[in-house]
Amino acid sequence: MTYDLVIVGSGPGGYSAAVRAGQYGLRTALVERSPRLGGTCLLVGCIPTKALLHTAEVWQRFLNPAADGIACDNPRLDFSKVVDHKNQIVAKHSKGIDFLMKKNKVDVIKGQAVLRGANQVEVQTGQGARTLDTKNVILATGSEARMFPGLRPDPDRILTNVEILDLRAIPKSMIVIGSGAVGSEFASMFHRFGTKVTLLEMLPRIVPFEDEEISKELERVFKKKGIRVETGAKAENIRRVEDGVQVTLTLASGQREELQAEKVLIGVGRKPVTDGLGLDSTRVALDRGFIPVDQFQRTAEPGLYAIGDVVAGTPQLAHVATKEGLVAVAHIAGKPVQPINRRLIPAATYTEPGIGSVGLTEAEARAQGYQVKTGKFSFMPNSMASILGRHDGFVKVVTEEKYGEILGVHIIGPLAWEYLSEGVAAMAAEATADLMMNTIHAHPTLSEAVGEAFNAIYGLAINA
Ligand SMILES: Cc1cc2nc3c(=O)[nH]c(=O)nc-3n(C[C@H](O)[C@H](O)[C@H](O)COP(=O)(O)OP(=O)(O)OC[C@H]3O[C@@H](n4cnc5c(N)ncnc54)[C@H](O)[C@@H]3O)c2cc1C
Repeated sequence: MTYDLVIVGSGPGGYSAAVRAGQYGLRTALVERSPRLGGTCLLVGCIPTKALLHTAEVWQRFLNPAADGIACDNPRLDFSKVVDHKNQIVAKHSKGIDFLMKKNKVDVIKGQAVLRGANQVEVQTGQGARTLDTKNVILATGSEARMFPGLRPDPDRILTNVEILDLRAIPKSMIVIGSGAVGSEFASMFHRFGTKVTLLEMLPRIVPFEDEEISKELERVFKKKGIRVETGAKAENIRRVEDGVQVTLTLASGQREELQAEKVLIGVGRKPVTDGLGLDSTRVALDRGFIPVDQFQRTAEPGLYAIGDVVAGTPQLAHVATKEGLVAVAHIAGKPVQPINRRLIPAATYTEPGIGSVGLTEAEARAQGYQVKTGKFSFMPNSMASILGRHDGFVKVVTEEKYGEILGVHIIGPLAWEYLSEGVAAMAAEATADLMMNTIHAHPTLSEAVGEAFNAIYGLAINA
């Protein structure tokens, strides 16, 4: 028999595409080489990190309960149980994907997939090779941690996102190299668990893709909390030493330093997984390892699509992988399909304070020639922030002066990722700054700070 669609990879891109294909009645197979479904996001990315970050937050509450009038003597953290709890959450959701595949009549085939042209996928299963004939293929093979040349991760000292999630004890000290979302989240997490953390970033600022003021605020708060942050800093010569790891650091000042810690986390980006995929049997020409696609996720080979982290120019985010999967399947099924509007892709970083952003930063908006008006509102006077005891951060909105077009919304503050979607929805609906100024926000909520930030454009915030 011939499938309508074979999907390679069961991360958020692949499994969501499989569900949608089932909903459209396409005869679909999902191939996954890992024993469990869910990909990077579920198994070693979004979900386990957020589970641990949540526990880090709860732990901080136990350590500092007095402000809430609670006495809690000698709280104890059983980190091994924390990791078990995280693993249970992951296992539950991986089973949830198994269920979704059954519900949507998707054949799940476990094994390593290799393309034989665009219409055949060979799968090395535990029971030998199996060839799947198909009209279409979606590649959703994702990404893995980028390493320094010649360096190999190990579960003991040199960690990536994979090994760090299996630690059974809290390290005394850790060097985190790279301050993107992954590095900053682990720095924030382990610092709260009690690890002495040093965060190194080669670029002039941490979370370098965020608005500059967001980077500055996160750096300020990290330093205030006791994380050592070095920007413009080059880390080299990472090596195992007797009781840990050593890194040669060249500081922004040019000064050199030998840094030592129990562990090092390498968080310097993600590389696409395309090796051994059989792309040489197709017309696809890789772009630095990534697969180029058009707005419907089509590659240069007819019938072959690619989605998610493996795609050239795609922001490496789970929800982007998912959306790209839905676009590809709609195109394959001949359904109405709208290409993704890249300006409307939200991004969240689950540090404390958290970050949520969508659209252009102030600098990007100015560089694109907009007459920019910004509004900013701090969480200091926000009553829900006081109730939560979390005042760091602000909401910053970037708008265009003449028509009040909303160009970007940037939040750093408690649970920023939750109410960022208000900014995304406003931009998607082409709401203006005026409309957002007049939108009523429930009280007391953190989202009131969003309304106040729009009012602040005109100096009209009430609680400033
Ligand atoms: C620590 C960490 C935290 C993150 N947190 C967030 C977050 O909070 N929010 C967010 O949006 N994003 C987050 N991300 C990014 C997110 O995980 C990725 O963007 C997302 O997983 C990409 O999905 P994908 O479907 O493209 O691929 P993946 O999730 O990487 O899945 C690819 C799958 O393909 C399989 N595969 C590869 N090659 C083959 C083959 N030849 N045959 C069979 N199977 C194959 C792999 O085994 C894997 O299961 C995080 C990433 C990391 C590392």
